[in-house]
Amino acid sequence: MKKLADIGLIGLAVMGENLVLNMESKGFTVAVYNRTVEKVDNFINGRGAGKNFIGAHSIEELVASLEKPRKVMMLVKAGKPVDDFIELLIPHLEPGDIIIDGGNSHFPDSIRRTQYVESKGLLFIGTGVSGGEEGALKGPSMMPGGSPAAWPAVKEIFQAVAAKVEDGSPCCEWVGEDGAGHFVKMVHNGIEYGDMQIINEAYHVMKDLLCMSADEMHEVFKKWNTEELDSYLIEITRDILGYKDEDGEPLVEKILDTAGQKGTGKWTGVSALDLGIPLTLIGESVFARCLSAQKDLRVQASKVISGPKPSFTGEKAQLIEDLKMALYGAKIISYAQGYNLMMEAAKEYKWNLNYGGIALMWRGGCIIRSAFLGDIKKAFDKNPELPNLLLDPFFKEKVEATQAGWRRVCAAALTNGIPVPALTSALCYFDGFRSERLPANLLQAQRDYFGAHTYERIDKPRGQFFHTNWTGRG
Ligand code: NAP
Repeated sequence: MKKLADIGLIGLAVMGENLVLNMESKGFTVAVYNRTVEKVDNFINGRGAGKNFIGAHSIEELVASLEKPRKVMMLVKAGKPVDDFIELLIPHLEPGDIIIDGGNSHFPDSIRRTQYVESKGLLFIGTGVSGGEEGALKGPSMMPGGSPAAWPAVKEIFQAVAAKVEDGSPCCEWVGEDGAGHFVKMVHNGIEYGDMQIINEAYHVMKDLLCMSADEMHEVFKKWNTEELDSYLIEITRDILGYKDEDGEPLVEKILDTAGQKGTGKWTGVSALDLGIPLTLIGESVFARCLSAQKDLRVQASKVISGPKPSFTGEKAQLIEDLKMALYGAKIISYAQGYNLMMEAAKEYKWNLNYGGIALMWRGGCIIRSAFLGDIKKAFDKNPELPNLLLDPFFKEKVEATQAGWRRVCAAALTNGIPVPALTSALCYFDGFRSERLPANLLQAQRDYFGAHTYERIDKPRGQFFHTNWTGRG
């Protein structure tokens, strides 16, 4: 009799094909199905030939080829196709079977789907999968959440295919209930926006203020990748700056300066606004992409609005060192803000998030992978209740040590008219966060003046509210 499959997959596009090849290479038999059924045969006779795959030509065939409890993973276009496949699967599944969504779904959808699928007696997992097609094939970072009872049934497969860090730990651990996995994946993508933006700002300062060539910048990024900034995004930036077009000129300088986005950075920003968390660096990174996309308007403005002409008279090597400090300091702020958002979401949605485990999941396999995440894991291992990364002794010391250089970079960029919105907003957050007193006393007075919103007084117990008739005296 033909062996039943350990897991089924719907969606033989880039991610699905690579992930099932990864699963099969770890010894699992996988049943595969795709809406356009020819793709099943193409795969079975192509990349999957001679391997432990079962090709299914219908949902019924797919379900019938699975070991119980059945595990069916979808890697299809996020949105309606996921709901459609859930509806198609439900009548064929039995209590205890598991539906898994591995696409880039928005976390409220995963909260809703968990409740719906559980109401049918089944279990649901919404898992973030990061690392692109190469990650899917060689080892992605995986962030699963959903029905906790489903985790023991999929843990072995997920942890076998996930990326591993130096000590062999898999970059995959249970994240939490219902939408927690997709929420953490969303924050990962937001942090990715932030990490990319601060690198872009450093490039802008090097190019326009220090007048460095792509080759010179390539060398700086090469060095940085051996130091505290060691990360995938610094590494690919090094490679991009060193890449020459057919005419021998750097290709990067010929690329149109309008950034695209698929929406996960925006979701992160919207979620921060909903939860009232100052996620300034990621927010600025999303807006920087929006401004870059207004190319025609910028071209028009550049012809009529003037500003300072960049000119640098200081020590070039010092400013390059300062840029490294600025990137390091801003990166600490970005993660502190991202973790702050996850902590607030955990309260709001009643998730029991493992913050050190999240750093470990991001440590390898994904786009934001970096040595730095090992330090974040250590901080949460030392104190799982750490309220803000900046209050960890290691990060407090590091961020303090970066500030002199970081301030010089922001001052030089602003004086010379070079926009560095993420680096400056992160520095302002840092200064606000470490301030015992902010000017919100005046703000409260203004609110009370025009809207009778009341205020508390520093010379009276908290919780007592006062209102003043501001025009009634003097
Ligand atoms: P994709 O282009 O997002 O989706 C293609 C798959 O979805 C195909 O199997 C396609 O079936 C199916 N599909 C599309 N519309 C459908 C519909 N209306 N009804 C039923 N099926 C439909 O594929 P992908 O790039 O491999 O990504 C899969 C998921 O992983 C997505 O959620 C994506 O956001 C996420 N993701 C992608 C990456 C990446 O680097 N590509 C990285 C991380 C996460 P047909 O063949 O019949 O058209």
